[in-house]
Amino acid sequence: MERRQFISLSCFAGFISLYPSFLALAAESSGAEKGFVMTVNGKIETNSMGLTLSHEHIITDFKGAEPDTRPEYDNEVTANLLLPYLKAAKKSGVTTIIECTPAHIGRNVELLRLLSKASGINIITNTGYYAAVGHKYLPNHAFTETSEELATRWLKEWENGIDGTDIRPGFIKLGVDSAPLKPIEEKLIKAAAIAHLKSGLKIAIHTGNGAAARQEVEILIKAGVSPEALIWVHAQIDPTGFFHVELAKKGCWISLDGINEDRDSIVQYRNHIYRLKGEGLLHKVLISHDDGFAVTEEGGKAAFNAFKNGNSIPYNTIFGVLKPSLFELGITRDEFKMMTVGNPANAFQIKVCRQG
Ligand SMILES: [Zn+2]
Repeated sequence: MERRQFISLSCFAGFISLYPSFLALAAESSGAEKGFVMTVNGKIETNSMGLTLSHEHIITDFKGAEPDTRPEYDNEVTANLLLPYLKAAKKSGVTTIIECTPAHIGRNVELLRLLSKASGINIITNTGYYAAVGHKYLPNHAFTETSEELATRWLKEWENGIDGTDIRPGFIKLGVDSAPLKPIEEKLIKAAAIAHLKSGLKIAIHTGNGAAARQEVEILIKAGVSPEALIWVHAQIDPTGFFHVELAKKGCWISLDGINEDRDSIVQYRNHIYRLKGEGLLHKVLISHDDGFAVTEEGGKAAFNAFKNGNSIPYNTIFGVLKPSLFELGITRDEFKMMTVGNPANAFQIKVCRQG
């Protein structure tokens, strides 16, 4: 009995002494830098994010920025309804989800916190405005206020919390259409640059095409922000990958985030990833599904429908379909880990990235 106790204690002591080097090794093999990110439950170390889906949604409301009424729903009831999907994602190994639904498209940070606590998955929410789809999701004040005034609003959320809660954003999310960018889109990017330099929040932009992403980089550089702070959301829209290579070489993150079960689509994602590997740029790639649920009103009650983006099970196709397909192509386990663990940690790490 005493001998047994001794063995278990010495194993424990050995584990304690090995633990820091084990953590360092784990961090090294994923490529995650030391730092922190901001979740709906507060700060966590980048090293503890683990397997991260870098662009997903939980609930969105597509009614527009200033509708007369919105579908109403109870957070606790809805969290219970959606919890099985997050638990399934956790079973696939997911430990962090970047939730990309901006304000005025149904962002609901209290629901995110309930789901994070119930599922054990870290969830990161955002601040910022979405000008894509013809400005339907911009509040009226976005048209009249200056970049500085908009940045002040977003920084208030960073400093004090969102919608009267103490939940803080972990990045800035914007949306713009294709090039040439419109003046209001340029204004939002300038506001993001101001907010980034004061907070270190990275800037993820839903972008209509590669030429628009190039313009974003130019605006940020002019405002003193390095392209390292920019996550080009929906970069899969670039058919040849020409802009991926140009902008990743400048430091921009390439978010390939609409992965779905369709065979042709999987081939397209594989080709993008393989090309970026050939260019030595896999350390700038993020992968995700852009899955989620839309809330609507049906018969006077809120209804939640999964996005019809080609995925029969939300938050799953990367593990069930893409991962084996990438391994067939010669992408290694370490490279997969880099795209799903190290890269998201580095992309969303709170860190001011100055140009020059
Ligand atoms: Zn999205």
